[in-house]
Amino acid sequence: MIPFNQPAVTGQELSYLEEAIKNRKLCGDGYFTEKCQDWIKNRTGAEQVLLTPSCTHALEMCAVLMELVPGDEVILPSYTFSSTANAFALRGARLVFVDIDPATMNMDARAVEQAITEQTKGIIVVHYAGVACEMAPLMELAKAHSLFVIEDAAQGVMSHYREQPLGAIGHLGCYSFHETKNITSGEGGALLINDPKLVERAEIIREKGTNRRRFIQGYVDKYSWVDIGSSFLPSELNAAFLYAQLEHIEVIQNKRLSLWSQYYEGLQKVQEKGCIERPVVPPHCSHNAHMFYIKTKDYQERSQLIAYLKDRGIAATFHYIPLHSSDAGRQLGRFHGVDRYTTKESERLLRLPLYYDLQPEEVDYIVQHIHCFYS
Ligand SMILES: *Cc1c(COP(=O)(O)O)cnc(C)c1O
Repeated sequence: MIPFNQPAVTGQELSYLEEAIKNRKLCGDGYFTEKCQDWIKNRTGAEQVLLTPSCTHALEMCAVLMELVPGDEVILPSYTFSSTANAFALRGARLVFVDIDPATMNMDARAVEQAITEQTKGIIVVHYAGVACEMAPLMELAKAHSLFVIEDAAQGVMSHYREQPLGAIGHLGCYSFHETKNITSGEGGALLINDPKLVERAEIIREKGTNRRRFIQGYVDKYSWVDIGSSFLPSELNAAFLYAQLEHIEVIQNKRLSLWSQYYEGLQKVQEKGCIERPVVPPHCSHNAHMFYIKTKDYQERSQLIAYLKDRGIAATFHYIPLHSSDAGRQLGRFHGVDRYTTKESERLLRLPLYYDLQPEEVDYIVQHIHCFYS
């Protein structure tokens, strides 16, 4: 069986874990946490980077930093993972879902513009499959209406929009290091703070509402409880594992990009016959091969193809059930405008196996069976 996903292991993880254990410092903000944060800061140019236990936690920190009050609205795509919505719903915000651009499956900037009201506090963008949203018009809209831009860049580590790293464009950006993502620590994430005004409060929120970080840095002579907050920092063990992955990121990325291209080229003929569609990457976006998907004719054909591939030992999968049609989404928000693409496109999108240890021969095998299915 070719699994759908397998986390990458690059070889240095165990020795860094041993080193963390020998350091006798296992809680957060130790040597490896600092190493990871500096690495991400240098690569992205973010003002500050804080590791978090997950991307979900980083998004929750964003919602606290936005100082949302009940009645405030945030605009987000319906085609996303529940965490994108939960973080803001937890702070009492109303969710305003908008439609996507079918080419990239990313939120449509024109739909966002139409959804802005007096209550709108922020735009939550999701860079689906590591391909950037159209950030220039979104940032302009945000500026004109004084809105926060939060990037859910869970899938966007190492991707760019017009040379800018994803996660480093909006006021705040969130990364995921879950084992289903390109780079992993099992569970993990990071908050990228691009607006300098938000740095100090972010550090406090992450440290249970205390100014402990300022104390450690020598800015204050004692630390105390100064704001609301939670425990938004991961253990050194996760950071040690993550640092090994960051150090090998080029190896992981080159492998994934090459497998992605192999799928893309291998499936060209099936697309030319009009049977499927392959992903679209706009010319001004560089992607990270987070995902390879195809679009079938419709829901029924997709179900048949999943079963066909499963019978041949290939685990292909789909997601997301649009949030606005789920139980929680109906209660906590509304869809603004017409759902022209979200439901229709989500029903025909199929994800193929793509992970570090996947072999080129296995990609050939999968491509071959998709050809067979359509002939
Ligand atoms: C994976 C993912 C998340 C959640 O990441 P965790 O690190 O598991 O919390 C959030 N948003 C999107 C778009 C994701 O793909």
